[in-house]
Amino acid sequence: MANTIVTIDGPAGSGKSSVARHLARELGLSYLDTGAMYRAVAARALDSGLDPAMQPRRVTELTQRMTLEVDWNSDPPRLIVDGQLIADRLRDADVRVAVSDVAVLPEIRQVLVDAQRRLASQRGGLVTEGRDQGSVVFPDADVKFYLDADPTVRARRRALELQEIGEQVDEQEVYAELLRRDQRDHQRSDGPLVCPDDAVRIDTSEMTFQQVVSRLAEIVRQRMCNGPTQPVGSGA
Ligand code: C5P
Repeated sequence: MANTIVTIDGPAGSGKSSVARHLARELGLSYLDTGAMYRAVAARALDSGLDPAMQPRRVTELTQRMTLEVDWNSDPPRLIVDGQLIADRLRDADVRVAVSDVAVLPEIRQVLVDAQRRLASQRGGLVTEGRDQGSVVFPDADVKFYLDADPTVRARRRALELQEIGEQVDEQEVYAELLRRDQRDHQRSDGPLVCPDDAVRIDTSEMTFQQVVSRLAEIVRQRMCNGPTQPVGSGA
């Protein structure tokens, strides 16, 4: 299992972050949250007085100069940007909005894709989650998953997450923001959100978190024992 690469892609609210984190723990692999890397770029841009929608070139230059490392000893692993831990800033509302403008810029995607491959080769094995992990970043991954869920279920989950970190939320607004992000994630020309042909697609709408983690763990173990040509089932 040590050098196994597992990718989990899917839209916001499909449950992939917590699932990826727990799956990694269960399989004894490291966990990489690539959404945090896009958020980190958005946060650094905003904190440097830049607007990613209006100043894409300057944000790209900033990203090309940024150093990105991960503290693998914490659980979950934490991103270190230019030598600083930045986790607390990543869920702020302004970052959440600006991240979509960052994620459409191909040169920024290239910097982050390179960083993701470098981090994976440092760690050997990894459970990595995002939008393009199975399709673009790790096309030869050992096991690929695509998690999805009904948009209303995803919006409810997202609203609960935000409430848990003390934010006042309007579920309708969360739903509208989620649909906007889905559309931008699906439609961008570089690294769009797609379900890779060779991914196992799982609809988590009716599943509990623990059911999803157990299902994925079972599929990975089966794959790693039997090899990629054995049938592994296709979801819920
Ligand atoms: O997963 P999370 O919500 O933290 O991702 C934030 C944003 O970063 C997403 O809306 C998406 O636009 C972008 N992203 C991406 N590619 C990834 C991970 C995230 O474009 N691999």
